[in-house]
Amino acid sequence: MKAFKLAVTIALVSVVAITCPWVGAQELPQAVSTQREMIVTANPLATEAGAFVLKIGGTATDAMIAAQAVLGLVEPQSSGLGGGAFVVYYDDKTHTTTTFDAREKAPSAATEDRFLDANGSSLGFTTAWQSGLSVGVPGVPRLLEVMHQRYGRLPWRPLFVPAIVLAQVGFPLTENTSNQVAGLLALNPSCAEGERLFFRDPTAFAYFVDAAGCTAKPAGAWIRNKDYADTLKLLGRRGAAAFYTGALAADIAAAVQGDLNIPGDMTVEDLNNYRVVERTPVCIDYRGHNVCGMGPPSSGGIAVGQILGILEHFNLGSDPLDVEAVHLFTQAGRLAFADRNLYVADSDFVTVPVAGLLDKDYLAERALLIGEDDMGTAAAGVPPGDFDPTAPDTRAKNSGTSHISIVDRYGNALSMTTTVESSFGNGVMVPGRGFLLNNQLTDFSFAPAAADGTPVANRVEANKRPRSSMSPTLVFDEKGQLELVTGSPGGSRIIGYTAQSIINVFDFGLDPQEAINVPHYMNRNGSTDLETPIPGVTWDYDAQALADALEARGHNVNIVTQTSGLSVIQVTRKGFIGGADYRRDGAVGGR
Ligand code: GLU
Repeated sequence: MKAFKLAVTIALVSVVAITCPWVGAQELPQAVSTQREMIVTANPLATEAGAFVLKIGGTATDAMIAAQAVLGLVEPQSSGLGGGAFVVYYDDKTHTTTTFDAREKAPSAATEDRFLDANGSSLGFTTAWQSGLSVGVPGVPRLLEVMHQRYGRLPWRPLFVPAIVLAQVGFPLTENTSNQVAGLLALNPSCAEGERLFFRDPTAFAYFVDAAGCTAKPAGAWIRNKDYADTLKLLGRRGAAAFYTGALAADIAAAVQGDLNIPGDMTVEDLNNYRVVERTPVCIDYRGHNVCGMGPPSSGGIAVGQILGILEHFNLGSDPLDVEAVHLFTQAGRLAFADRNLYVADSDFVTVPVAGLLDKDYLAERALLIGEDDMGTAAAGVPPGDFDPTAPDTRAKNSGTSHISIVDRYGNALSMTTTVESSFGNGVMVPGRGFLLNNQLTDFSFAPAAADGTPVANRVEANKRPRSSMSPTLVFDEKGQLELVTGSPGGSRIIGYTAQSIINVFDFGLDPQEAINVPHYMNRNGSTDLETPIPGVTWDYDAQALADALEARGHNVNIVTQTSGLSVIQVTRKGFIGGADYRRDGAVGGR
């Protein structure tokens, strides 16, 4: 174990010492090729930890555990032990693909009026977000254990060593983390204890903020998190039970119930009862590729599948930024979001017509609705199959999530999207434990029903999982060989980012890095959003000219920043080609 710790320390310190090559560069990042294995995450230290595990013979699952443990430390705004995740997993031995649902659950005391005030009006999003009401029972620790028991090859305990070493030795705070802290602090009316909404929790405040001037700790500040190291050691020694039972579970419940804004109702029993659910993947054939993603409670697999299934009826041409390709993609997005908003929620509680929504004839009919001009707000269709009469939940948000893509030397692959929902989850760090709680329950509809009383499928219910947009995806060729691993954070924009990465590779013939560098465009059944280009990160393009051409076709266009975090691996006969997203701190690793 000592030699292992030393090797890990050397590997990680060398990554900390390397300055990020893309910062300030005007040249676009290039794809990376490897022969044996590959990992892509949103942070170089997490990538390095996972790559090290792969190098010493670990599986994709082993590497994922090491990378997730590091991400919870170095990118705490996006994911961690206090959050949830979905994994789409390919097992090469059995040639099967499966998915793991580690989505957070509403406590057993939750009722449908959770996010309503005394007058029956919805709470403001920020009030709900920065409160104990928003915290779902975390799924990540149990996911790591369940997957390790099934697919791990290295012993469990050492997988936490990279994160433990980093937490003890320290690491430089990223610009991203610092900027996000600063952004939230700026929204506070006052910095005084008891008056802050963001970083109201003294533990999180002390960790992220320089108290003297009430400013974010700067990029490069050396951060240590001994509490987190201790939590990981506990998890390493005792497994996920150490998180879901005993003193740690009691501390989580106390932090939720003692929230300084609005106390929550999560109990130790809720934690004791948390289970990861294995679910069948949602797959669709797209121009000869089998695209497999996450089904309910995520809307990701269905919506990505619908976009592709509709686009299959059109020729997209050869230029991803051509006005016709952009028009078609946005129209498919409108149709997919109309269905998503109405039908998709936790299928353990609501009947979701999954097969009907991906039915080829149904999608052919939907494609007929696309014309020369923007179609305006799309109505949901009527897919074949059973469903409950429900009202739509149309809210769309952006926030705190991360994506990990891995292929190992044994032929296994996984696509994992992992989240605490909004930036820094609900803003509370469990005292003495070093990790943040999520605010995933704000992904539920705040209103339980429409004005006419029709229930919303995605309303709050006890023990239910809120609807997600996370879209971890694996793509296979006609013979069942893995071709692509992709996925991204980005709130409900995840669906567009992921679908776009797939057409960029298969329709436009781009490599994974180019596919990431193409500026984003999408329509979530509202405005058509074009990405503000970022010099040295995205392709240079005339956003205004494209906006004008689309407006001439009836689109209402916004040019906005779109901070995806795509992690893409393409599998070829010669090996792996990887791309990472420099809109965040993405890094490709492996050999
Ligand atoms: N909570 C969101 C979801 O599950 C993801 C948020 C994000 O990407 O930042 O869909």
